[in-house]
Amino acid sequence: MTRTKKLGARERQTFQHRLQELVARLSGGVAQLESEALRPGPELAAPASGTETHEADRAVRETEEQVARTLLASEEQILTEATGALERLRAGTFGTCERCDLAISRTRLDAVPYARVCARCAREGEVE
Ligand SMILES: [Zn+2]
Repeated sequence: MTRTKKLGARERQTFQHRLQELVARLSGGVAQLESEALRPGPELAAPASGTETHEADRAVRETEEQVARTLLASEEQILTEATGALERLRAGTFGTCERCDLAISRTRLDAVPYARVCARCAREGEVE
């Protein structure tokens, strides 16, 4: 009756634990990165001693902010994917490719537990 090989209860539980850990870790990481990105700069608190150093400090801080924001974006994306995978676990569609409806290989799920499509579709479709 099923076209796809379903994951066993034990396997689903294993992935659930892995995804829950991932979500917990990323939630903490995202909160930390957000506070770093939104931290007020030193020029708001202390008066500048000279225009030159002031400009240099500002440039360094802007670069740091950019790095923090880039990290934040990718971590948030993984967090969203991992949360979606947990929902699919509850819905019973976890491990099934969203595009071709075939089972995603265990190897791929081990590498990317929040994968939404099988390796073949990922290669062909360049899914976002
Ligand atoms: Zn597929």
